Amino acid sequence: MNIILLGAPGAGKGTQAEKICQKLDIPAISTGNIIREALRSGTEMGLKAKSYMDEGKLVPDEVVIGIIKDRLACDDCANGFILDGFPRTIPQAEALDKMGVVIDRVIDIEVPDEKIAARMSGRRVCADCGASYHLEHKKPKADGVCDTCAGTLIQRKDDHPDTVLSRLDVYHKETEPLKDYYKAQNKLWIIDGQDKVEDTTKLVFEALE
Ligand code: ADP
Ligand code: ZN
Repeated sequence: MNIILLGAPGAGKGTQAEKICQKLDIPAISTGNIIREALRSGTEMGLKAKSYMDEGKLVPDEVVIGIIKDRLACDDCANGFILDGFPRTIPQAEALDKMGVVIDRVIDIEVPDEKIAARMSGRRVCADCGASYHLEHKKPKADGVCDTCAGTLIQRKDDHPDTVLSRLDVYHKETEPLKDYYKAQNKLWIIDGQDKVEDTTKLVFEALE
C-alpha cells in the first residue's frame, strides 16, 4: 500500500508514520528527516536546504522531488511506503503522478493551529542521530538523552515559536490545497489528531482497512 500522510507541522505525522511502518512493514519516508540527515553529514544538498529550513520555508520543489525519486527507487519500497512530509505543494503531487507512482490512500491528520504551537514547544530531536522525542508524548528514558545513541536532545531551530507561525502559514497556503487535489482523486481520509496518540493511531488504522 502506498500511503501519504498530510497535516500541519506538529500534527503527529511522524509518530503515526512509525506506527504504520510497524504494522505493515513498509518504510516511512520523511523528507524532513532526509534533509536533516544531509545537513548533519554536510552534503551540498543539506547546506543548500539549511537556510530555507531554518526560516520555516519550503525547500525548493526540484530538490525534494529529486530526493523522493531516488528514495522510491530503493528496493524496500517495492511493497509500499509511507510518505511523511511529501508532497507539500501541488507541483510535488503532480511530480509523483508524473513518475507513475500510484497512491492508494492519503490520510490527513487534522489539528487546529492553536494546539500546534503548544505541541511543538515539547518536541526534541537527537543532535546525533535525528531521532524524535516529545517531552509529554514520547519521553526519552533519561532526560535530554537519546534512547538509541545517547546523543544530546535539542530543540530544532524551526520548532521555535516564531518560526512555527510561519510554518503554519506556509502549510495553509502551499500544502492545504493538496486536500482538494486528493479529494478529487477519491483518496482523501480526514482524521482527528487532537487527542491521545493511541486514539489517532486507531483512526489511522481504520483508514487503512
Ligand atoms: P514536520 O515534521 O514538523 O512536519 P518536517 O521535518 O517534515 O516538519 O520538515 C521540516 C522542514 O523541511 C520544512 O519546514 C521544509 O523546510 C523542509 N521540507 C521537508 N519536506 C519538504 C517538502 N516536501 N517540500 C519542501 N520542503 C520540505
Ligand atoms: Zn540519537
